[in-house]
Amino acid sequence: MTHPWIGADENTLPLKELSPPVLPEPPLSGVDGIDCDACGRPVDEWTVFEDDTWRVRALRRDMSFPGSAMLESVRHAKGVADLTPEEAAGFGVMCQRVTRALLARPAGAPGFGDGRVGRVHMHFWGDGGEHFHVWFFPRPLGYLDLRGSYLVEWEELLPPASEEGLLAAAADLRARLNG
Ligand SMILES: [Zn+2]
Repeated sequence: MTHPWIGADENTLPLKELSPPVLPEPPLSGVDGIDCDACGRPVDEWTVFEDDTWRVRALRRDMSFPGSAMLESVRHAKGVADLTPEEAAGFGVMCQRVTRALLARPAGAPGFGDGRVGRVHMHFWGDGGEHFHVWFFPRPLGYLDLRGSYLVEWEELLPPASEEGLLAAAADLRARLNG
């Protein structure tokens, strides 16, 4: 497995030109809660936390780093700008809770490498679904190539973890968030 940016030869690497702007932009998915996946989501084995305002789900699809999770509002908030002041304050608390739960994993816990987490990355992109959601990625302890924005590049390239491993990390995260 080689890194996407190492060994890239400017003479052989296909170059992509910046496309011209598309206006108006195509709509996000789930606009106004219509056909919104997050609004209609059932509680299942991937749900690791839920209260009246927030839901945390462990990510299941082709994830390389077990314990990767998504925080989303229970109601259909249209991104961070649409949160009430109370929700925005609670968002900060939830970010800290999820981060602390992942950082608490000891050696031997389910996860990539020996299970321990060096840092927890949070991403709010907001270019896919309209329903407010934030990604959390546990950066495996000691894997310095995975620092910073390279982690999500590697996440696309490394083999996905087994469903068993992802479920074990989900159970671990659920126990830490609700403990
Ligand atoms: Zn929604």
